[in-house]
Amino acid sequence: MIKTAQNIKSYKKQLKEALQDKFLGTALNNFNKAYRENRPGVYEGIEFEAIKRDIAQDKDAAIPRLLELFEEFKSHAEEAGVTIHLAKDAHEANQIIARIARDNAVKHIIKSKSMTAEETYLNDHLEKKGFMVTETDLGEWIIQLRHEGPSHMVMPAIHLSRYQVGDLFEKVTHQDLDAEDIDKLVKVARKELRPVFLKADMGISGANFAIADSGSLGLVTNEGNMRLVTTLPRVHVALVGLDKLLPDLKSALKILKLLPRNATGQAITSYVTWIKGANECRNAPQEKKEMHIVFLDNGRLELSKDRVFAEALRCIRCGACANVCPIYSKVGGHKYGHVYIGAIGLILTLFYHGKENDRAIVKNCLNCQACKAVCAVDIDLPFLIKKTLGAVMDEDGRKPIKNQLLSKVMPHRRLFHFLLRQAHLAQKPLARKGPMIRHLPHFFEKQHGFRSLPVIAAKPFRDRWLNMDTGVKSPAYAVSFFAGCAVDFIYPEQAEAMIKLIKTWSVKVMFPESQSCCGLPALMAAEEETAAKLAWQNYEAFQNTASDYILTICASCASHIKHYYPKVASQAGISKTDMAIFVEKVIDFSSFMVNVLNVSAEAFTTGDKKVAYHAPCHLCRGLAVTEEPRKLIEIAGLTYVPSADEEVCCGFGGSYSVDFPEISAEILGQKLDNVIQSNADILVTDCPGCVLQLRGGMHKRDSAMEVKHISEVLSEQLKKC
Ligand code: SF4
Ligand code: SF4
Repeated sequence: MIKTAQNIKSYKKQLKEALQDKFLGTALNNFNKAYRENRPGVYEGIEFEAIKRDIAQDKDAAIPRLLELFEEFKSHAEEAGVTIHLAKDAHEANQIIARIARDNAVKHIIKSKSMTAEETYLNDHLEKKGFMVTETDLGEWIIQLRHEGPSHMVMPAIHLSRYQVGDLFEKVTHQDLDAEDIDKLVKVARKELRPVFLKADMGISGANFAIADSGSLGLVTNEGNMRLVTTLPRVHVALVGLDKLLPDLKSALKILKLLPRNATGQAITSYVTWIKGANECRNAPQEKKEMHIVFLDNGRLELSKDRVFAEALRCIRCGACANVCPIYSKVGGHKYGHVYIGAIGLILTLFYHGKENDRAIVKNCLNCQACKAVCAVDIDLPFLIKKTLGAVMDEDGRKPIKNQLLSKVMPHRRLFHFLLRQAHLAQKPLARKGPMIRHLPHFFEKQHGFRSLPVIAAKPFRDRWLNMDTGVKSPAYAVSFFAGCAVDFIYPEQAEAMIKLIKTWSVKVMFPESQSCCGLPALMAAEEETAAKLAWQNYEAFQNTASDYILTICASCASHIKHYYPKVASQAGISKTDMAIFVEKVIDFSSFMVNVLNVSAEAFTTGDKKVAYHAPCHLCRGLAVTEEPRKLIEIAGLTYVPSADEEVCCGFGGSYSVDFPEISAEILGQKLDNVIQSNADILVTDCPGCVLQLRGGMHKRDSAMEVKHISEVLSEQLKKC
């Protein structure tokens, strides 16, 4: 039985232990990197975005019809000699399968990999009932021998080295084995498993697809074991989640196009097997196999009716959301999920395994959007993770102090800003002179000392704005500036640099002073009511400004406004059209400079500075802006030098870096190592949150490399008139 931390204190302890496992960190990191690098190759000539939306539509049409599809499947499968069962929960599914085994005088059971069977803890149940159960997928067999759960949905033993596997096989076979010889290790497994296949009375499989209009199952695997499991023994039981039901083969074939590509970076999988009906079987009486399909509900029907969470049932278990997750690549699946791991695991755990198992793990998300970008069925995973966090808190019936404060303070802009001004005064003894806090209190330094922290500005942007000369004659464009809290109260100089720049191109800037926080920090804490109130306040603040664009130099604010505000518009009586017009105007700085102002090199001096670039998650994935910042660097007369993993998160994630400092520090450390290897003079990015994290990290390392917002770098390169 899998044990998952049930409170944040013990979870953090486990995370610390996982971070100390250097083999795990290196193995997962290499895997994450290789996956990201190889993935584009297998998608060449494949319209990933279009196909995933198509699959999402098919799944969305199927999800409300699960019971209907089940009945259709049942009638076709029964005609073909299969017995169909519907289990309301995990226990019932296990009981049904144990009963089938008992009724058929089964002793030995072989299994092929099935996440649904992991979900029900089927092996435990059958073993307790006295059956001999053997996993036959290599990875699953390894973890079964180690009495562990899978650490990845597709590669269950990815957390183990060949040496660990070699030691394990030596114990099982009582032979000396050479762990360097992987082929030999595989042969050992084959030799050990072959007799087990032959004496098995019953085979248990899962299924990737259950096709309603034919009553057939589709199974996708890379090892031949599943075909043996489903054909050799006289009894075959398939345990299938109701969410695997599809109306027809056509829908399954679309999924088949993406599944192997997304899961393991293969254009095609080794085996695709379609099973219809109880086939012939030499080992069975009358040479006809006894076949049962057990459909598992376990919360799926309830989920299918949920307006928000039903989307999670689209999942095809490709595992890609773990493959790209910066947190998974640091701590692995045993600490990044319960039975289901990775981003989807943080969501499904609540519905399939209860709030106790999700309470701690669901907090562990940076909102970096990497999972959303690769998801084969277009699930908005980061958003659903925050919704799940909110649902866990609701079920718990108590809110953390952070949430109580957020909901009391943030909707009241004046109070919120007053407190930020007070923070400037409060930090004075720690700040001395300069942009960074010199000494953190000892208890704080121990965990959070991986980066220096900036001081709150003595005069926020909103005060400086009052004395700025922003007038332009015959403006080419009028923009309303959305500052965001970090620029307004920590880095007002980034906004001043931006205004100086765009004035050169005759842009009139307005600053609606009643604007407030974009609401992203509230959403990150699952404080949805507060996030929605802030969205409406900002809509009010900007809707009457006669501007062509709403410009922001904070990628996180821009992405949050574009994606989240339309979701909450109707609750405040804002029409879809009005909100669409509003969010359509929102533009990030680099896109505005390159695509609207068409800035050219004549305006800038040339220099010999080499510039590395960090792509903020909310710019490159949130807004799909990738080329513009790099172009801008070159236009401004600087030399852009690429560094490794530019689009991987810096580990900031707002309050995430405070809640999980050890993980944030690991991710940041790797980012800084990559940048330093580029030999750049300056590291540039276009989100103040990333500036805070990266500058703080460089400062802590006493590095000579400067970290700047792109608006600052460009403004320094501007030719003097
Ligand atoms: S948003 Fe980022 S950190 Fe969160 S689950 Fe997805 S990939 Fe992992
Ligand atoms: S949520 Fe998406 S990416 Fe993750 S396993 Fe499911 S289909 Fe794959």
